[in-house]
Amino acid sequence: MKVLLVADMEGISGVTLWEQVTPGQSEWQRFRRLMTEDVNAVVDGLMSAGADEVVVVDAHWKSNNILIEQLDERAVLQSGTPAPLSMLEGIQEDVDAAVFIGAHARVGTAQAILDHTWSSNVVSDVWLNDMPIGEFGLNALLSGEFDVPVLMVSGDQAVAKEAKDWIPDIYTAVVKQAKGRYAAACLSPKQSHTLLRETAASALTQWKKSHRPLPIKTTFPVKIQLSLRHTAMADRVQFFPGVTRLDGRMVSFETETMLDIYRLFRAVVALAG
Ligand SMILES: [Zn+2]
Repeated sequence: MKVLLVADMEGISGVTLWEQVTPGQSEWQRFRRLMTEDVNAVVDGLMSAGADEVVVVDAHWKSNNILIEQLDERAVLQSGTPAPLSMLEGIQEDVDAAVFIGAHARVGTAQAILDHTWSSNVVSDVWLNDMPIGEFGLNALLSGEFDVPVLMVSGDQAVAKEAKDWIPDIYTAVVKQAKGRYAAACLSPKQSHTLLRETAASALTQWKKSHRPLPIKTTFPVKIQLSLRHTAMADRVQFFPGVTRLDGRMVSFETETMLDIYRLFRAVVALAG
């Protein structure tokens, strides 16, 4: 059994501020270690529940956060950017199940650590087939297109709720209670690691028994409406093939697959910024 472990950084144990997750800033080195420890706890939980292979995706910023020299030796690390499928690189390679850790809530969520969707500087909001969507939903739907279920999420209580809205029977490990965008009551790393290990083991054990949760799917064609931060961003992307400008800051585009919309979304956000 092969599991893709997608690790973002904002929802890692103890993280509350941008300087803790921004390469080159003062606290990034400390939090790289904490991120690697969260990853290792989940790898251990998955392995104890019978996973044969765990591929860890370093899914934050330039994908150079996890300390490979401290990574559990049973895991393989997907590192560096850009990778063809970005946060989900590897999902296309015979994966049985996925877990998302260190996750964060979508842009505009109250009491959510570092809430944003893909880029704080570029993205004001996103809807997919008229449903508000953040990174969790985008990644879960792309996983679903490859028939891969998402078994677990970790982060604050806000992303746990967002994940349950998409996948009611997902396992959640809430390692901090957010009180605002930059403030949370955080478990100690030791407590957090126990919770992560046990949640990962329970999620995989349960999935082996029941094959629940199921992969999630959307309807096709799939349409994204993207509200950008500034009108100049819409000026830059409005002539991109397939993109329609709806108003000052809103653009939309439509494709026949989640894979195509995921790629187009990333391209439009990159070009807009
Ligand atoms: Zn991130």
